[in-house]
Amino acid sequence: MTRLSDIGERGAIEILSRIYDRGQPIGLGHDVGVVEWGGDYLVVTTDVVNQKTHIPAGASPTQIGWYATAVNLSDIAAAGARPLGFVAALSMPADTDVEFLRGLAQGIEECVREFGIAVLGGDTKESPVLSIAGTAFGRVRKDRILLRTGAKPGDVIVVTGDLGRAGHAAKLLEQPTALRSDALTELLRPYPRIAEGLFLSESGAVTSCMDLSDGLGVSLAQLASMTRLSYQIEFDALPLYRGLTPLPPAVAKDVALYYGGDYELLATVRADAIGSLLERWPTTAPRGQRLTVIGKVATSGGNVLITKTGKEPLLGKGWEHFRSSAIR
Ligand SMILES: [Mg+2]
Repeated sequence: MTRLSDIGERGAIEILSRIYDRGQPIGLGHDVGVVEWGGDYLVVTTDVVNQKTHIPAGASPTQIGWYATAVNLSDIAAAGARPLGFVAALSMPADTDVEFLRGLAQGIEECVREFGIAVLGGDTKESPVLSIAGTAFGRVRKDRILLRTGAKPGDVIVVTGDLGRAGHAAKLLEQPTALRSDALTELLRPYPRIAEGLFLSESGAVTSCMDLSDGLGVSLAQLASMTRLSYQIEFDALPLYRGLTPLPPAVAKDVALYYGGDYELLATVRADAIGSLLERWPTTAPRGQRLTVIGKVATSGGNVLITKTGKEPLLGKGWEHFRSSAIR
């Protein structure tokens, strides 16, 4: 018997895609699935958050609710779509405090409100562990949808915000003396880059996009597996989260490249359009998020990290469910 722990999350996804694949409009393996809707796509995404793998001790129900919603809206953002609505299926033990349920719903409500949508419905079931299965809907013009495929050699690679924020928080939580509440907020309050995704989509200059739920290294490995191109990253160009500065350089590097949980957008942009995109960015981006050029796409050579001292392979390691070897 082969178990899920032998093949990992990506192995499981491969099995599922082989069974489900029958020529859907954009294919499987993107951040969202789509249904044709006149000149637009209705985009759909679902993401489960559960007590065992996602929620550190001490997290408040409101934080958990926000997080479970935000991770779904982040995929809507990655597609360059406008959110339309959200549903959530809540599984929890029968002895759950009613106040916990209230807090959870308040966190979900806070997040959907922030992005101008509402909870449209859901389900509640008894289960031995808390688990929240969220589903988000959005809408985007067919010719403006951002997918994981579409990059061409010569495109530049950009990222929103900074990298390593969530990893930094998780490292703090490992220390008994840490300010837990600050770290929990940092980890569980990702802000979906909806406005940024819309800007990138409307620019017409972006050739591919995904959100960084799993870390830069593994995300670029996923892009490369779909496009067969080489993604080359300049380490010194990476917008590292300021909290990483005091860490030993090797640890900071590992957190920034291989940790995940930042929910920033990673995109490729046509080289002839990057100048004007960056020029227009500061006036359009809300909350002062940066857009940083971090590398370029090439025809071949695998994914590469370029540092002061040379080149090294950019690894595809990062968070993966079912595998005990997962870092984190
Ligand atoms: Mg995603």
